[in-house]
Amino acid sequence: MTEAALQKQILEALRLSPKIGGVQRINTGGRTRRTNLAPTGTPEIFGWMAISRDWSGTTHKGQAFWIEVKTPKGKLNADQAAFLEHAASTGCITLVARSLEDIQWLI
Ligand SMILES: [Mg+2]
Repeated sequence: MTEAALQKQILEALRLSPKIGGVQRINTGGRTRRTNLAPTGTPEIFGWMAISRDWSGTTHKGQAFWIEVKTPKGKLNADQAAFLEHAASTGCITLVARSLEDIQWLI
């Protein structure tokens, strides 16, 4: 299964769970500007590049969570690992999900 397919499965499970208050993805990436606010083709980045994880949200009790989805062989990069470690140190739920089973305890 691709990471994108697994992300979809996990999002659907989170959205259907009564234990989850909300879930969202903060898209990040790069693009070339297409508006009249800057010359066409101006490169820009968007999103929270250093901290965005695949899914974030809150439980029904208001506890924040951050989920990084990876394929079974996927590896966290240094930014991902550092962010998850920091978020966990502040009391957030953090996890690396490699299958739908990895989030069952949360939902
Ligand atoms: Mg991912």
